[in-house]
Amino acid sequence: MQFIDLQRQYERIKERLNQRLSKVLESCKFILGPEIVELEEKLANFVGRKYCVSCSSGTDALLMTLMAWEIGEGDAVFTTPFTFIATSEVIRLLGATPVFVDIEPTTFNIDPDKLLMEIERVKKERKLRPKVILPVNLFGLPADYGKILKIAKTYELRVLEDAAQSFGGKRDGKFSCSWGDASATSFFPAKPLGCYGDGGAIFTDSDELYQILLSIRIHGQGKDRYDNVRLGLNGRFDTIQAAILLVKLEIFEEELELRNSIANKYIQLLDGKVTTPVIPDGCSSSWAQFSVLADSKEEREQLLESLKLNGIPTAIYYPKPLHLQKVNEDLGYKLGDFPISESISERIFSLPMHPYLKDEELELIAKSFSH
Ligand SMILES: *Cc1c(COP(=O)(O)O)cnc(C)c1O
Repeated sequence: MQFIDLQRQYERIKERLNQRLSKVLESCKFILGPEIVELEEKLANFVGRKYCVSCSSGTDALLMTLMAWEIGEGDAVFTTPFTFIATSEVIRLLGATPVFVDIEPTTFNIDPDKLLMEIERVKKERKLRPKVILPVNLFGLPADYGKILKIAKTYELRVLEDAAQSFGGKRDGKFSCSWGDASATSFFPAKPLGCYGDGGAIFTDSDELYQILLSIRIHGQGKDRYDNVRLGLNGRFDTIQAAILLVKLEIFEEELELRNSIANKYIQLLDGKVTTPVIPDGCSSSWAQFSVLADSKEEREQLLESLKLNGIPTAIYYPKPLHLQKVNEDLGYKLGDFPISESISERIFSLPMHPYLKDEELELIAKSFSH
């Protein structure tokens, strides 16, 4: 059994992939070819945004947006410590300071009440300028944008949605990648909409941000390629990868339904065995991961062992919150600062999740929870 079975999806789309890929190969338009424009239009339409700028990775999507907003030394970016390292890494690369806020115990997303308190604290302390809220939609479930956007408005902060795991997730009838000033997603192969390499995209409704992002994506170019007006990157997405995503996008909505039906089956089968994910009213997840909670660190170890004996692959997202990572040592956080993130990191683990999991496989997984 595979944790994420890309092979089964490939078998399904092989023929159309070959057609679209040979078109790119024959055209030889490898850099920002027509497939890039086609994909960006389709993605922007899908999520309901004015603009999409495809780019080299989810990490670069976050970084380019913060660069465009000229975030730097002395600026505070509020985010969660229970996420992938890229979220705090991009803030630190620009010399700005991540201000961590603990998560909600059931959704694992940033807690809006604690966010409000942290913004107040940073404002009173007057050492850092509050600039951006960077919520992460963990495992595919959108954070509480109702409350977050209200807080952002009150304090005049920008919101950058880390939607690396949540392309296809929904809240109150809106798709992920449609909230806040900008949204960043990832096309890393294991993400809900993954290509066959690295890739990402930024979404926004702002004409100004859109123009700056286009410039940053090509080394800060101005009027033309040899006029450089700001610091930028080589941040482009490959045309070949765009062609792959165009094929995958055709079956994406059906795959989302399959993921949701698998998640519902998991929740039924695992009833009474572990704590299964909670999806708040009005929300749906894109199920980048199906993560469950054991009662204790010891119980998690036993369960992982028993799953392993039955040939079931598992993973732990995330074993160590970002405030306890060595790279973030100089921020001065310590064990005990974010008790919810710390406790969850000791009890959480993820089960295989992809649209092509079979009923027999789900039953085998559930049976492997010896209790
Ligand atoms: C995967 C991920 C990223 C980074 O995306 P890449 O495409 O791998 O650079 C950023 N944030 C979160 C929450 C992620 O899961």
